[in-house]
Amino acid sequence: MTRITVAKGDGIGPEIMDATLRILLAAGAKIEVDEIEVGEKVYLSGNTSGIEKSSWDVIRNNKVFLKAPITTPQGGGYKSLNVTTRKFLGLYSNIRPCVSLHPYVKTKHPQMDIVIIRENEEDLYAGIEHQQTDEVVQCLKLISRPGCEKIVRYAFEYARMYGRKKVTCFTKDNIMKQTDGLFHRVFNEIAKEYPEIQNEHWIIDIGAAKVADTPEQFDVIVMPNLYGDILSDVAAQITGSVGLAGSANVGDQCAMFEAIHGSAPDIAGKGIANPSGLLQGAVMMLIHIGQTEVAEKIHNAWLKTIEDGIHTSDIYKENVSKQKVGTMEFADAVIANLGKTPEKLKGVQYLKDSIIRLPKYQRKAPAKKSLVGVDIFVHWSGTNPDELAEKAKMMETQNLKLSMITNRGIKVWPEGFEETFCTDHWRCRFKSDENSSISGNDIIQLLTNAISHKIDTIKTENLYAFDGIAAFSLGQGQ
Ligand code: NAD
Repeated sequence: MTRITVAKGDGIGPEIMDATLRILLAAGAKIEVDEIEVGEKVYLSGNTSGIEKSSWDVIRNNKVFLKAPITTPQGGGYKSLNVTTRKFLGLYSNIRPCVSLHPYVKTKHPQMDIVIIRENEEDLYAGIEHQQTDEVVQCLKLISRPGCEKIVRYAFEYARMYGRKKVTCFTKDNIMKQTDGLFHRVFNEIAKEYPEIQNEHWIIDIGAAKVADTPEQFDVIVMPNLYGDILSDVAAQITGSVGLAGSANVGDQCAMFEAIHGSAPDIAGKGIANPSGLLQGAVMMLIHIGQTEVAEKIHNAWLKTIEDGIHTSDIYKENVSKQKVGTMEFADAVIANLGKTPEKLKGVQYLKDSIIRLPKYQRKAPAKKSLVGVDIFVHWSGTNPDELAEKAKMMETQNLKLSMITNRGIKVWPEGFEETFCTDHWRCRFKSDENSSISGNDIIQLLTNAISHKIDTIKTENLYAFDGIAAFSLGQGQ
């Protein structure tokens, strides 16, 4: 018997959770349920995180959390409970299988069977944002080596466990050479450890276009957080409906399972929502807790129900579907099919032990790190970069000389183009001669000079070389 935490959530949440639990128990899942309250009611009671402290204790104690969708009220500084849960519990891996159910669910892509594995904790979702000038705000994109290694290894282990042939990586490392570049490099390193699995990399824009056009070319796809968030919804939608896909969020200690869709307030309380997405999440949960036989039984009964044409209204189609049913009727039809396998759709078979265990992350020996310069970001309302260069030169020290000014990343000094549009947010790069090492005192001197010349510095970013290799981007056009 495994104790799990359940939250029924908001909108259609309670309806689809009741239907899902009914199927699980009828199939013989050995689970005991601790129910907690999260979401709208908790938010509106004045708790901006959407969850009580005592509920965290239950989640952390049970380690397995089945969560229905919740409504995050608009405005008012309410934090997304999903993002908080993933990060607090270290749920670094988000797994979203997207499979076509052709010809029973209408789709332009009858052959589609892909699994999107999305990094779940970092990237722009670190949520570190600042307004720096009147005109410019920033969001920090953080990508870490452990984050990349864990998610990429998870993708290859997943492929190995589920007999998948290929793992594809999507990044935008032609532009973001440091952040996405690290993700891609780690992908190449780890791919070598799995010679039996094909690997490939696509730049995300053409990769996404190919997923939308010819998804049958893909198998497992691994990518950083934001791309994965967007593309997994696209992938689920083009199988026929977002209402069909489930999602697992897995960490070293805890895991959370859910549907990928939201709380669908437009159809809440009507008893017509499709419980399939949450049920798919629950099937992944059963695999995670080692109840693979029950998972297999439910999954096959669900496929048979879809194949029988018993459909909720979101996927119901004249001439294809046989019977339009509500949430609970659909659950009852799945229950009636327990023990049966689909005849036309491909049934599933799960290995007895399908739990993916990764080796503990091993931190590498640190590189030799040397400080070779600094980018000083300046709030300045002028328009002529030559004028700013004159001012910035007044900040120079013996070891740090102005080498470049950019505006939103594009070089505007020296030799900028007068056509380039400039905001009030400038980056002045100060470098040592030939990348020789400087000290923190050089930067302090530079900033002291800025204050005495009334230059409004809004941020400094140190420039480092690691093992002698410059580890910062050049200005565009440099
Ligand atoms: P949504 O996914 O709730 O709904 C989009 C459309 O899909 C709606 O027309 C809805 O009726 C339909 N739909 C969704 N699930 C369905 C199902 N199971 N059966 C039948 N039809 C279904 O997206 P939204 O309207 O953008 O968001 C509504 C709320 O959900 C928002 O408050 C949002 O913050 C929240 N949300 C929560 C989660 C989560 O808890 N994991 C995820 C996404 C959105």
